[in-house]
Amino acid sequence: MKQWTLAAGVVLAGGLAWYLLDDALVGDAWEANEMVSPAPGEAELGSWGINLDGINSAIEPGDDFFRYFNGTWLEEAEIPSDRTSTGSFLDLAIRSEERVQAILANLETKENISAVERKVRDLYRSFIDAAHLEEIGLAPATEDLQTIAEIETHEDVTRVMASTSMGTESIFGVRIGIDEKNPNAYAASIRQSGLGLPDRDYYLLEEPNIVATREAYVAYIAQILELGGLKDVGEKAAEIYALETKIAEIHWPRAERRDADRIYNPMTVSALSEYAPGFPWLLYLQEMGISPVNQAGERIVVASENTAFPPLAELFAMTPVATWRDYLTFHYLDSHAPYLSSAFDNANFEFRGRTLGGQAQQLERAKRGVQLLNRTIGEGVGQIYVARHFPPSAKIQAEALVSNLLVVYRDRIRTLDWMGEETRAQALQKAESFTVKIGYPDKWRDYSALAVTEDDLLGNRSRSAAFEWNYDVLRLDEPVDRGEWGMSPQTVNAYYNPSLNEIVFPAAILQAPFFDPYADDAVNYGGIGAVIGHEISHGFDDQGSKYDALGVLENWWTEMDRANFEGRTSRLVDQFNAYSPLEGMFVNGQLTLGENIADTAGITIAHAAYALSLGGEPVPVLDGFDGAQRVFLGYAQVWRYKAQEATMRRRILSDPHSPPEFRVNGAIRNVDSWYEAFGVGPDDALYLPPEERVQLW
Ligand SMILES: [Zn+2]
Repeated sequence: MKQWTLAAGVVLAGGLAWYLLDDALVGDAWEANEMVSPAPGEAELGSWGINLDGINSAIEPGDDFFRYFNGTWLEEAEIPSDRTSTGSFLDLAIRSEERVQAILANLETKENISAVERKVRDLYRSFIDAAHLEEIGLAPATEDLQTIAEIETHEDVTRVMASTSMGTESIFGVRIGIDEKNPNAYAASIRQSGLGLPDRDYYLLEEPNIVATREAYVAYIAQILELGGLKDVGEKAAEIYALETKIAEIHWPRAERRDADRIYNPMTVSALSEYAPGFPWLLYLQEMGISPVNQAGERIVVASENTAFPPLAELFAMTPVATWRDYLTFHYLDSHAPYLSSAFDNANFEFRGRTLGGQAQQLERAKRGVQLLNRTIGEGVGQIYVARHFPPSAKIQAEALVSNLLVVYRDRIRTLDWMGEETRAQALQKAESFTVKIGYPDKWRDYSALAVTEDDLLGNRSRSAAFEWNYDVLRLDEPVDRGEWGMSPQTVNAYYNPSLNEIVFPAAILQAPFFDPYADDAVNYGGIGAVIGHEISHGFDDQGSKYDALGVLENWWTEMDRANFEGRTSRLVDQFNAYSPLEGMFVNGQLTLGENIADTAGITIAHAAYALSLGGEPVPVLDGFDGAQRVFLGYAQVWRYKAQEATMRRRILSDPHSPPEFRVNGAIRNVDSWYEAFGVGPDDALYLPPEERVQLW
């Protein structure tokens, strides 16, 4: 599923408590807690929703709004040694993990356990039993490793690359999602793949930290192969690394991969075989269960980074089978290392946790088990979470907020000064066509075909991978399921899906600091209001604006309006290119453009919606802050964040979201109402003359 999210793909998994409740008050089902829902409460943070302790009053809001609001917090906050960052999102993630742990503890003693509860419990048990994993060693991997060891031809290599249950690595990946040109049908899209480091830049840049990271990667490859019982591991590691470097040189950069037009390249399987010879496309797709024909005749697949395919296919053919064998062995062991004995698990953590993320120590096993559950059987956990922690009143309140924001959005489109009437009519139609999903899906995912046993972790993992793939591939020629969710309810995040023109807010983001029914309204507008505005704005960002009201990737702009829009967005690219979160490294303004548009428009709309909600009535000043100021404080509070340097480096190179500091400062300096709220003028460091502010929606 294509989704443009609110925040990075960090693991923000687990069930979160409804903010008013302590677990002691929570029964098995929400319905059982009549005593709770009408109880009056107090704001969770501070007395009206903002924790003012983090403010550094020595910093002028107009000079650095992020450090004005978060300065003292930044000085005092410590990144937990078992995490790579800290801040508002992590606070919720940690609470969430604890809530799921409470759910799991309950399942251990519960009578009359349901089928899905049993799967959740048994999967967790299979992970948590480290002594058993130690005892069995590589035994559960023997069969797969043998299959890889017996590879003799490039066709054998292809079969292993295509195996969804084995979960190794492949130079191409296939994803089944909604067809960009036809939101009523699914399509298989093929993408470049094959790297073990987070981005091609890790292979190509000469920045000293990156160079050191890739040296550590080569050592890690050798270490994993040695643990796997292979010989000549130094030589093999060098070959694998050299192969991946060649792959990286061919890959499209991330910023180009965002371009919805450029990555939509439909072709038949036979045309693809002619276009990119050297890779056995037909075999590969058939092994994955994708037939080259369907009811309509020859199947059309989408070649995403199309110009990379011929050289990748050629590289595939030119690389000796022995090198592929080692490559697949390494990637098999690497991807399964956290689920094997401690020797593998520790080696994996040292490289992927410590070197790549700056994490000082491994997270406790129980928490990692929770994260595994959320990744593997997320809606199974989510069902239990929602029953416990998501009251119907929260959904109703959130729905009201969303429709409020949408009304303001439409009003603004009606009065935008840079857009002609023809485009405006189309934009309005799109703004009137959003589907809104809040809390959790109407229909839960059916896990009955997934077999889980409590003493077979690796087997559970591979059965789950096959289960997920089959779910997608078996419906490839079926109608689109519009009710489906791309995130579990316990995820602290939100997303926009352009093909369905839908905005989706999982239950777990509907709590403080994003949303608190007992907080001041202004704070909620700056928090969840800006999040809602952000997701709506993805429908109108540099890529989302290429999809029409029905979710079809089809231009609805006049040439002049599009040129006008792109002139404005290119200035936003320039602004963000100038920000340097780490010495010598800069934000990639093109890679982050969609998110920066969404942030800038999101907080603009949130403030406007707040102002409208007052209906001209005055509001009291709270602790010296007026209503408009409190909207922006609420916004800065959501993005409170601090990360290890290695994690920041990885974000800069691979994350389409700007670092939170610039999600605040980089966005608000384009927003007139922020200047007014804090009296910001030409002497302030963040000041931009009105003509340089980028205002889109
Ligand atoms: Zn986003």
